[in-house]
Amino acid sequence: MPLVNTKEMFEKAYKGGYAIGAFNCNNMEIVQAITEAAKECNSPVILQVSAGARKYAKPIYLKKMVEAAIEDTGLPIVLHLDHGADFEICKDCIDAGFTSVMIDASSKSFEENIALTRKVVEYAHAHVPYVTVEAELGTLAGIEDEVVVEHGAESYTSPEDVEEFVRRTGCDSLAIAIGTSHGAFKFKPEQCTRDPETGILLPPPLRFDILEEITKRLPGFPIVLHGASSVNQDLVKIINEHGGKLKDAVGVPEEQLRKAARSAVCKINIDSDLRLAMTAGIREHLDVHPDHFDPRQYVGDGRTYVKKLVKHKIMEVLGSNDKI
Ligand SMILES: [Zn+2]
Repeated sequence: MPLVNTKEMFEKAYKGGYAIGAFNCNNMEIVQAITEAAKECNSPVILQVSAGARKYAKPIYLKKMVEAAIEDTGLPIVLHLDHGADFEICKDCIDAGFTSVMIDASSKSFEENIALTRKVVEYAHAHVPYVTVEAELGTLAGIEDEVVVEHGAESYTSPEDVEEFVRRTGCDSLAIAIGTSHGAFKFKPEQCTRDPETGILLPPPLRFDILEEITKRLPGFPIVLHGASSVNQDLVKIINEHGGKLKDAVGVPEEQLRKAARSAVCKINIDSDLRLAMTAGIREHLDVHPDHFDPRQYVGDGRTYVKKLVKHKIMEVLGSNDKI
């Protein structure tokens, strides 16, 4: 099976009341962990690549690894550019065979966002085969590779803007801001309440009222959630017990994501959770076996942790298992 775009995948996800996981890839072990997990769950999957990943691994390696994963698993896989900052990077990826791109002009004015998104859409839709385009309205707080937005400078998506934006840009899906945030420190302690027993931070709930309003105005249109890692506290604990120092790392609770996955949200982005799983596996291995120095042993444990996490996400959060 060749790479696919998001069109049919999102139509099925919307109707079926589940979401597709969009997992960020940076190296071979992460690609293998995600696609092996998806294979075992019989789930479609989106592998996405950020500007940081392209810099780290080189686009050609990422592309070839994803092709290898398709050959190995036979799964429908989307190769997606995460947070394309300008027309050129989107064009580069489309020309290189990506089947989906995101143009993130959310930091620009409404009119500039529309103009740039429209330009990418025209190029992507004229491409053979058709490349799908994700756009963004509203901004998320937090840090994701080269996208940095200070807490306090984020803004929720205005439901009044979405119809005009989608109509004038022709985008295929829309990332919205309803309170998710990039990174492993999604919320400042003062935004949260603290569980008196465990001391763990409890974040403010997502704005489902905004999501509902947007869905009413865009019936049947696929919505995307960025910054949707849950920052699994078991992984944070393993990291901290084996020499790590992640204080007050906090994410979006899984039950809220499960609720989102049943709605118009067709794509849920997960990056920080993969990083935490990889780090937990490697830290634990090196701490327990200080005499080991074969990367296959400790990176292999990282891969095992990532795979376990992805299976959990597919089965317990996204609901995309057995959808092929
Ligand atoms: Zn993002």
